[in-house]
Amino acid sequence: MKAIKAGDVRKFYKSAIWQAVRKQVLIRDNHECQKCKEEGRYSKADCVHHIKHLREFPLLALVLSNLISLCNACHNEEHPEKYEKFKSNWVKKNKPDIPERW
Ligand SMILES: [Zn+2]
Ligand SMILES: [Zn+2]
Repeated sequence: MKAIKAGDVRKFYKSAIWQAVRKQVLIRDNHECQKCKEEGRYSKADCVHHIKHLREFPLLALVLSNLISLCNACHNEEHPEKYEKFKSNWVKKNKPDIPERW
């Protein structure tokens, strides 16, 4: 099974079927972040997350039990790889002028 490529992921998230499933998950979870809820907090869900990541488990892309509503903060925690990328891009963009010293 080949993993979904970056372009396909984008296409997937735009598809009508994903929009429909996503809505169903949000309704199931009362538009509430399930991770915050576990910790006794209330946060509005901003997105629907694939527990088993879409790229590695494309067959589970539309399986409700693999989907969970999360707020943005919790979602970022679930994707450290995204954060790392963001961080390294930020460092590149905001490189300080100070020369590196040993
Ligand atoms: Zn949360
Ligand atoms: Zn996610």
